Amino acid sequence: MAKGERSFVTKVKKVTDKKNVLCPVCNSEATPVVFVKSVFAEKTNSWKFNKCTILACKCTEKEIYGL
Ligand SMILES: [Zn+2]
Repeated sequence: MAKGERSFVTKVKKVTDKKNVLCPVCNSEATPVVFVKSVFAEKTNSWKFNKCTILACKCTEKEIYGL
């Protein structure tokens, strides 16, 4: 990864070993995805990777894919 680059690099991977569930908010099918966001930490001058599993559905897909 290029040094000095401050933009986000976001990766989203579908989790295949988990069953789809219904989102309680939009009541549509939500797909569990692994959400990896790389953030440049100026304190340590290095890239940090924040990885978490979230549910992708109609009300969160904009947040997930729209970055
Ligand atoms: Zn939803």
